[in-house]
Amino acid sequence: MTACSSAGALLDVSGSGARAFDVSVARAGWFCSGSSSGMRSERRFIIDEEDESAGNLKGRSTLPYPSTELTDDRNNNNTWRGFIKFLDAGRGSHVSGMSELKKYFQRFGYLEQVPESNLTDAFDDRFESYVVDYQKTLGLPVTGKLDSDTVSQIMAPRCGVADSAVRVTGRYAYFYGEPRWARSSPMTLTYALSPEYSIDYIAQSEIESAFDRAFSRWSAVIPVNFTAAEDYWKADIKIGFFSGDHGDGEPFDGVLGVLAHAFSPENGRFHLDAAERWAVDFASEKSRVAVDLESVATHEIGHVLGLAHTPVKEAVMYPSLRPRTKKADLKIDDVKGVQALYGSNPNFKFSSLLQSDTSSSCSCSAVGFGTRSSLWARTAWVMMMLTFVWWW
Ligand SMILES: [Zn+2]
Ligand SMILES: [Zn+2]
Repeated sequence: MTACSSAGALLDVSGSGARAFDVSVARAGWFCSGSSSGMRSERRFIIDEEDESAGNLKGRSTLPYPSTELTDDRNNNNTWRGFIKFLDAGRGSHVSGMSELKKYFQRFGYLEQVPESNLTDAFDDRFESYVVDYQKTLGLPVTGKLDSDTVSQIMAPRCGVADSAVRVTGRYAYFYGEPRWARSSPMTLTYALSPEYSIDYIAQSEIESAFDRAFSRWSAVIPVNFTAAEDYWKADIKIGFFSGDHGDGEPFDGVLGVLAHAFSPENGRFHLDAAERWAVDFASEKSRVAVDLESVATHEIGHVLGLAHTPVKEAVMYPSLRPRTKKADLKIDDVKGVQALYGSNPNFKFSSLLQSDTSSSCSCSAVGFGTRSSLWARTAWVMMMLTFVWWW
């Protein structure tokens, strides 16, 4: 199966029925973690960025979480960590291993499917156009170079659905063909957790509660009800925690990297990487690479309903999510996107969402790394990243 990562073609007809695939990564939430002024907050921000990009850091006293309380996870995936060496590459560059980065772009829908032997280490005009496309799609400054924003985004843990989508610049997007669940409104969709493919370190009731809350966020804004089904095989939406190659052509990759993926309507498959350290409560889960289950569930349900990835960083449907970050509240972009497919829940009022969106997005962009021009900040960031790679 190759369709999941093929550029521009999301339909896969090689398996059991057509399906669409979208991939995403999100570095959600990090923008609001500190003040934008002062040396101390600047340093902290840089470390946050490094932590986000690399997916995990160990034992730094300046980390935003108390390092003495968090546990290291030496089994971390190193999938995209090596991409740091491409920092500052641009047209005309030739860096050993660039072909691996091209495979990454291929996987997430930016580069057409060609034999791997055709992928060279040259940063040519064509590759520059893919980098520009990536930057536009993920709401990054468009430079055409592998600048720090772009490299850190590439390295961030993300959703496995490709970024290819039907989109209007700057907002929510759909899969090709704009598939949706086609039942009369108000509709009810059933969901079930696989009794076989699950995780055992979180109580089943807590896992179920996290999914219940995630589904409720969507049902609050559209006329769609979600109910838990007894029979997994009869459920519309089948959820499971899988490891590695699990038979759908999109193998999971271990800790961080790809966190989860889901299929477009009306497929209903929703898979989470069992290798992640999933969390429902960061107060009790101390792993530095813990990933918030409810946030990822909310994102993947968006795919199940027909939403693709958005370039709006604050939105749930942005493709990346840093470890130990909760980002489950739907934003205006998410709501407008899903309501364009299903209509509005008659009980939903936009005014409340507008209020929360305004208050929560206040200073986010103001402290984003992409808006910084400080040479000090840039130099320090690069040094920190290089230090991390060496130290690892
Ligand atoms: Zn996604
Ligand atoms: Zn899967």
